[in-house]
Amino acid sequence: MSFRVGLGVDVHAFAEPGEGRRLMLGGVVVPYERGLVGHSDADVLAHAVTDALLGAAGLEDIGHYFPDTDERFRDADSIELLRLIRALVEENWSVANVDAVVICERPKIRDHRDAMRANLAAALGVEQAQVSVRGTTSEKLGFTGREEGIAAQAVCLLEGLGDS
Ligand SMILES: [Zn+2]
Repeated sequence: MSFRVGLGVDVHAFAEPGEGRRLMLGGVVVPYERGLVGHSDADVLAHAVTDALLGAAGLEDIGHYFPDTDERFRDADSIELLRLIRALVEENWSVANVDAVVICERPKIRDHRDAMRANLAAALGVEQAQVSVRGTTSEKLGFTGREEGIAAQAVCLLEGLGDS
């Protein structure tokens, strides 16, 4: 049996309150006064998970598959993009588990984490128990501490199918 682990990291800046961006995290619209800036829906959590999946499978980075210069991906649903990458990865691998951390002072992740896990698990074709999402703060330090944006990190473990 072969295993591969991958690490995904992503950061998005907050939009100004008047810009009308929704805050999308793990496919959940989180009620908050500011959304994140990005070419897609700026779902920083979904992007970190996608990046972890790509890394574990030894594929290119997320921008290779979904360039931010491509109009097709403007305001794209990042959960759908994750589903597309999963289809690529599952030719050779199955997802054993994903663990992700969202780093921000506000909003609180706790109230939404199960909905995020459900969305990510559905996109990955796994049970919710195989996906963990947690929130943490950076103790008011750095750009997340100054509430300039949100960061997310994820690890993904893949289990080889056959002799990949
Ligand atoms: Zn991103």
